[in-house]
Formats: sequence, C-alpha cells, structure tokens
Amino acid sequence: MSAKKTEISKRATEVLRLLKSEYPVAICELTHESAFQLLAATILSAQCTDVRVNMVTPALFDAYPTPAKLAVADAAHVEQLVRSTGFYQTKAKNLIGMASQVMTRFGGEVPREIEDLVTLPGVGRKTANVLRSVVFGLPGLPVDTHVGRLSRRLGLTKLDDAVKVEYELNAMLPPEEWGEFSLRLILHGRRVCDARKPRCEECLLESLCPSSTLPTKKLTGKTATKKLAHKAATGKAATKKSTKKPVKKTKARKK
Ligand code: SF4
Repeated sequence: MSAKKTEISKRATEVLRLLKSEYPVAICELTHESAFQLLAATILSAQCTDVRVNMVTPALFDAYPTPAKLAVADAAHVEQLVRSTGFYQTKAKNLIGMASQVMTRFGGEVPREIEDLVTLPGVGRKTANVLRSVVFGLPGLPVDTHVGRLSRRLGLTKLDDAVKVEYELNAMLPPEEWGEFSLRLILHGRRVCDARKPRCEECLLESLCPSSTLPTKKLTGKTATKKLAHKAATGKAATKKSTKKPVKKTKARKK
C-alpha cells in the first residue's frame, strides 16, 4: 500500500472511531418490522425523506402486510397510498414487481445475497446494502448522497460513482463496521455536515478534515499545511476583509 493510501486508511479508521463515540447508537431511521417492510420502505425512500416514508408506510403495511398480498395489489390503490413520496407510479410498480418476484423466485422470503437483491425491481446496490446490513447483519455499506459527500469532504475518496466509493471505503474498514459506518455518516451529514452549509465549528472531525471551512490559523503542524494546500487548490481559503480604510490616492499639488 502506498504512503498516501496508508494515510487515507488511517484517517478512515480515525473517522470511524470518532463517529462511534459521537453516535454510539446507529439505527436505520426507516420504520420497519421485517426484511420485507424495510425493502419496501427503502424503495420508497428514493428522492424522499425517511420522515415522509415513515408517514406512508403504516397504511401501506396495514393494507399489504406480506409479499403475497402486495404481489396481487391493485396498482391504483398502491399509487394512492405512496403518492406523497414522489415518483409514485414508478414506486408503486416497483413495489408490486418486487413482491411478485419475491414470491415467484424466492419462495416469499427476501433474499440475502446482493446478486439476488439487485435483480428485484427498484432495488439497486444501495438498497441491497441497507437490507444486508440492517436486517440480516451481513456486511454492506450503503452509499447515499450523504455518505458520498462526507467521504469526499473527508478526503477518503475523490470519486463520484457510488459503487466505486463503496469499494474504496470497504477496503479501508472492517466488514463488520460497514453498515453502521454508513448510518453514522448519514447522521453526521444530516446534523452537522450539511450539503450547503457545513457546521465545521461544531464538527468533531474538524481537526482531520481537509475540507474544514474554519480559518487555518487555528491549526498547527501537518494538518494546517495540508489544509492550506487544499484550500489553495480549491480556492476555499478563508479570506479576511481588511478593516483598514482604503488610502486615497491624491495628486501632489503643484506649488
Ligand atoms: S469539518 Fe466541516 S466539511 Fe469536514 S466533515 Fe466536519 S462539517 Fe463536514
């Protein structure tokens, strides 16, 4: 492993340690009581908040508590139930298609293997990893918008592609930590490292984050040097407005 990769890997380990201390309990915020319910809720969470999904799933699960019932549901009724989550026609179609395939191909049980999960309608790698890590206790690191953004800001990856980011993070962290690492990054992204306005001044990762927006004068040693280099490269260096009044240029009078 190159020195650079070793350094990034050490940073990932430190980020993991600090996030564990900050968020000792990392739980999935989608309400569910089974693999089937979490799968349905995760399909609905595309382009939608967990809070909104949690508002619609009680009625959905009341009407269709099992894959067998959802597989034969009336599409218009499912659309009506999930309408407020957006893209409701596609989501309703995917929910019914998912339930139907769980019944016909997997005997009514949600599969555990990622290769099987991603063949279900509406299920990508992120959703498959949510299922694996949250309900099956298997290694899986879901990369959503928060995980991708924080990983880049923290200098753990330079990549945009979610699957490539997942593989890079997987290589730096123990498999048993993957799922909760993702959940903790999501919590930190929601609470502190906002997409538009990161609150670096209250961030416990600030001392090791190359994207901190705090003035570099507070930093010392190697971290300061790295941050200065990063900010110079990205044009994000904090610039202080001069408090001195501008000196007026006056023409010398001819005597
Ligand atoms: S220091 Fe700022 S940019 Fe870095 S992780 Fe914390 S909030 Fe995000």
